[in-house]
Amino acid sequence: MREKRRVVLVGCGMVGMSYAYAMMNQQTCDELVLIDYNKQKADGEAMDLNHGLAFSGSHMRIWSGTYEDCKDADIVTITAGVAQQPGETRLALLERNTAVFKSIIEPVTDSGFNGIFLIATNPVDVMTKITCELSGFNPKRVIGSGTSLDTARLRYLVGDYLKVDPRSIHGYVMGEHGDSEFVPWSQLHVSTKPVLDIIAESKGKYCVEDLEKIEVDVRTAAYKIIEAKKATYYGIGIALNRLTKSILGDENSVQTVSAYLRGEYGQTGIFIGVPAIINAQGVQSVLECHLTADEQERFDASCNTLREYFVH
Ligand code: NAD
Repeated sequence: MREKRRVVLVGCGMVGMSYAYAMMNQQTCDELVLIDYNKQKADGEAMDLNHGLAFSGSHMRIWSGTYEDCKDADIVTITAGVAQQPGETRLALLERNTAVFKSIIEPVTDSGFNGIFLIATNPVDVMTKITCELSGFNPKRVIGSGTSLDTARLRYLVGDYLKVDPRSIHGYVMGEHGDSEFVPWSQLHVSTKPVLDIIAESKGKYCVEDLEKIEVDVRTAAYKIIEAKKATYYGIGIALNRLTKSILGDENSVQTVSAYLRGEYGQTGIFIGVPAIINAQGVQSVLECHLTADEQERFDASCNTLREYFVH
């Protein structure tokens, strides 16, 4: 890795710039390059961020660049694409965003880029697969944001329900980042105590029905936010920042990303949201949790949803 940690961000829209703002505030990298096919927008965003540097405590260099800047990048993060419209499923975005990715991946790889791709554009599991195919990269070096945001939503909502700090809630949303995602409740722990034990011992204070409601709220959060304010961006921005830190810091931290499966959870040849150990090499390995038979069924169904709709 070069001494200067460089991130190239392709797509300076709401998601991209929320991510950039989070990185600036958390001093995540040393160099941030902004690229957008609307060059004027990238120029303006670079100016705006640079004008905040004096108050940010960050030494970042930020500029509006070109694909040649990818040569020395550790990470190329792609948030370019069309945002989900009210009522539109993530899956319906596929056609339009595939064309966008064709125009991006080629110049990135032509630059000699040899780092990690981080993808957020929806439908994210499929766009991650498309990035892998178009780039020819080892799948370990292509990471989708997957269910990282959904997992953050889950931890927040369960924490709120049990009155426990979300950082002490350990659990995952797994599967497609979309309508077939699910929560393996058998895996969710408060500190080291299974949430299902907490419910069983709560004398009716807490119940499984409430957990099921939380699961629905997690799954439908994006639709509600889009209805209220047209797009979602702060949550995913800070989730991408967290993933970027895991990579640049060579952290070996567990995140729920869209990772390529080679037999884990009985599935092969698919990018889907699973807990995985992330470091400077990308996906070090997928963490295989012991799902119940019902949870495994839901995971398989989610894989099938992705396969049915998105096989190219
Ligand atoms: P946006 O419209 O605000 O921004 C998209 C940006 O991409 C624009 O600035 C546009 O000019 C740029 N762009 C379009 N085509 C391009 C190209 N060929 N090359 C370079 N730049 C190009 O949209 P947004 O709200 O920032 O959302 C971006 C994507 O992120 C969408 O696909 C959205 O669904 C997705 N998203 C993902 C998650 C997640 O959890 N993974 C969460 C929220 C949004």
